[in-house]
Amino acid sequence: MGLKSDNSQKRTAGSSGPETDVDPQTPVLRISQLDALELDSALEQLLWTQFSQCFQNCRPGLLTPLEPELRALLQLFLWRFTLYSSSTTVGQSLLSLRYHNILSSSPRYRPLSRRQKLSLALLTAGPQWLKERSHSLLLCLGLNAGGAVSESGGLLQQGLRNCMTLVSSVAQLASLINFLVFLRKGRHPVLAERIVGARAVFSKPNVVRDITYQYMNRELLWHGFAEFLIFLVPLINTRKLKATVSSIVFGGQSSKGEGATEGQGVLKECGLCGEWPTMPHTVGCQHVFCYYCIKSHSIADAYLTCPKCGAEAGQPELVKMEVEIGR
Ligand SMILES: [Zn+2]
Ligand SMILES: [Zn+2]
Repeated sequence: MGLKSDNSQKRTAGSSGPETDVDPQTPVLRISQLDALELDSALEQLLWTQFSQCFQNCRPGLLTPLEPELRALLQLFLWRFTLYSSSTTVGQSLLSLRYHNILSSSPRYRPLSRRQKLSLALLTAGPQWLKERSHSLLLCLGLNAGGAVSESGGLLQQGLRNCMTLVSSVAQLASLINFLVFLRKGRHPVLAERIVGARAVFSKPNVVRDITYQYMNRELLWHGFAEFLIFLVPLINTRKLKATVSSIVFGGQSSKGEGATEGQGVLKECGLCGEWPTMPHTVGCQHVFCYYCIKSHSIADAYLTCPKCGAEAGQPELVKMEVEIGR
């Protein structure tokens, strides 16, 4: 691999000229080809997300019954304006690659023929659609045949299903073998490319594969910051902090101003939720809490303190008091 990349760099540095002077024999890095595929699938996903967002205000699940067809259509749409018109996919053009027609015997660069482009599109979009649709297609066939002869229809469906499974496993095996061959030889990462006879070559020979790492640095920084927060947040006892802050800010005022009325006021509201206390309980100080509020907080925090006055909390105990009706 290293040797090959050196080789390609030497050659690309040496040759210069217009695009048509591309030497199709220059080997393309495997990683570039795989990157191009990855970029293409990311673009497809992005396009689908944008497309489905257009329908987000419509009835939910509107697109679901037609999703495989719509995805295939979008793929064909993308194909029409990238591969069909310029013989290169979006991912490839980002990495300055393009397809070369290996069926032509000429040593110079040859773009794909129309037939090759069309079969490449069908071989890419077709199997995917078939895979997602096979189940409902079989069901449909079964229903149609079931009306006339139910038993033979069932047999037909079973046979078709077995056949489909066989075909899909053969296709998977073939693509695995193709990928192993790709790792060995560095050509045709996808089976469809091998069948059609399309090979990725450099489109501009003297371009260095250049990636700016600025966005990566930003990403790393945010990632590090998020990890730090994830580490830090569980260590902070927000309730205690809130109680301390509120006792610092409001503590002095309330003890001065509401000193007289506090005795009655604290019994009327839960110190945690601020509502009329349900099953009022106390933890040792003069404040009252709903049973649910104080129990859930004391389970969550073993060293609970009263959020109003900061006194250390003991076991919640039921408060016996005379309830005024219609406070
Ligand atoms: Zn409460
Ligand atoms: Zn208290």
